[in-house]
Amino acid sequence: MNPTVTELLCPITLELPIDPVIAEDGMVYERKAVEDQLQLRKKSPMTNLPMGDQLLVAKHVTNIMQSLLESGVNDDRLIAWQKAKKLKELKEMEVQKRREKLKQMDPAQVKQLLLDHIRRCKSDKCLCCMKLKKRATSRRR
Ligand SMILES: [Zn+2]
Repeated sequence: MNPTVTELLCPITLELPIDPVIAEDGMVYERKAVEDQLQLRKKSPMTNLPMGDQLLVAKHVTNIMQSLLESGVNDDRLIAWQKAKKLKELKEMEVQKRREKLKQMDPAQVKQLLLDHIRRCKSDKCLCCMKLKKRATSRRR
């Protein structure tokens, strides 16, 4: 286990942050993890002292992890980070591609696509279905 990698772990998730941010307590966290904590209480997860909710992108942390990888540091946590990061980038690219595709379609086509999706989608956790249902109920009111 590389000591530098250990220093870079998010103190909440205990994993290397995919989206590292620096909070008002000066610590670097995984964005999602510290956002969740700050929603519950405006305190530092590390010191328990009152803390605001301003977060800044900690680009240097990503750069350090990237250069550790490139210099051949062999650490399972670093490999896991690289995999998770690639997966996230792939997902973002897919979403982007889908958005572009939707932009090029005419509204009637988009509506038909959504209707087809709702008919097929059986998940009650599907984000797009939830959004659509919300829109439908708010329109009825
Ligand atoms: Zn759905």
